[in-house]
Amino acid sequence: MGHLFRIRQLRRKLTRAGLQGLLITHLPDLRYLSGFTGSSAALAVTRRAIRLFTDGRYTAQAAEEVKAAQVEIVSGGPAVAALTWLAAQPGVDTAGFDPARTTVADLTRWKAALPSRLRRAFLIPLAAPLVEALRMVKDADELALMSEAALVGCTLFDHMLGFIRPGLRELDVAAELEYQARKRGAEGMSFETIVASGTRSALPHGRATTALLPRKGFVTLDFGIILGGYCSDMTRTVYLGRPRTKERASYEAVLQAQQAGVEAVRPGASCGEVDEAARSVLRRAGLAEAFSHSTGHGVGLEIHESPRVGAGQKARLVPGMVITIEPGVYLVGEFGIRIEDMVAVTATGGQVLTPAPKALIEL
Ligand code: ZN
Ligand code: ZN
Repeated sequence: MGHLFRIRQLRRKLTRAGLQGLLITHLPDLRYLSGFTGSSAALAVTRRAIRLFTDGRYTAQAAEEVKAAQVEIVSGGPAVAALTWLAAQPGVDTAGFDPARTTVADLTRWKAALPSRLRRAFLIPLAAPLVEALRMVKDADELALMSEAALVGCTLFDHMLGFIRPGLRELDVAAELEYQARKRGAEGMSFETIVASGTRSALPHGRATTALLPRKGFVTLDFGIILGGYCSDMTRTVYLGRPRTKERASYEAVLQAQQAGVEAVRPGASCGEVDEAARSVLRRAGLAEAFSHSTGHGVGLEIHESPRVGAGQKARLVPGMVITIEPGVYLVGEFGIRIEDMVAVTATGGQVLTPAPKALIEL
């Protein structure tokens, strides 16, 4: 699925960075470039060759999945094998690696595996990740998968509206949601499902617990499914019973902030501008302090990837990026509200991939 094109783009970046080789160990990067979905592998890229190293458990799988690279089955660690191969390639005096994805222990092991004359200068930490930059902009196949994953998320939310009632445990809600996700074809959940009810809704990352859904109060559902390797991510907050004036007003403020964020999505806008569009609405509503996180994040093969949509972020939106817009308000001891959509950047603006209702639902 476009692997050769991606590898060509990567080589262009490699040349621009003045490197002859690249060692890739981060599995989502590796999957993006080669199609390999196993859990242990390394990819070595030079300007002429590309080779995937994995172990004997993956012989059949690699042969089936990997078309754009040569595959070598090794018995030791695949990263050391990839590095050793890179160092032996004619004309390759340097190899980049992603320091954000490398532990001190990895680097020590890698250096020890190199011939002593190469130990000092062969491995070059990348100033900026090369593959993640490519992954930010999705192609048509990726967008189709992500859109499908997002729509499955919407059908799950719709199902949950008929399931949620006071007295259920948050865990029961998460279990039903995840069961239904599987039934609808999800390979897994993008992250641990968040079900936060009553005063717990004030926890931005309130994982489902044994707490019982209250007779009266907000319930926040934040969840995503994985389809074809790609993550979806959405949040809706509903109300059990009749909301008080303050609760209704806070919900309206979050909804307006979320809509302002979505409307600010267009090619050329900076991530900081999109954040500010949402944040300024909450500031005007006197809720600036209660919005304690950034507005959103890129999503794709990983649930959180570039770009970050936060205050002051200079990265500019480009058609094909998929980001979330998810402002929230958290009043400790009282309640919390978050609304999140996935938005694809188009040639002219933004397309919401999660068109589930956002007006306050009272159950
Ligand atoms: Zn989310
Ligand atoms: Zn999110």
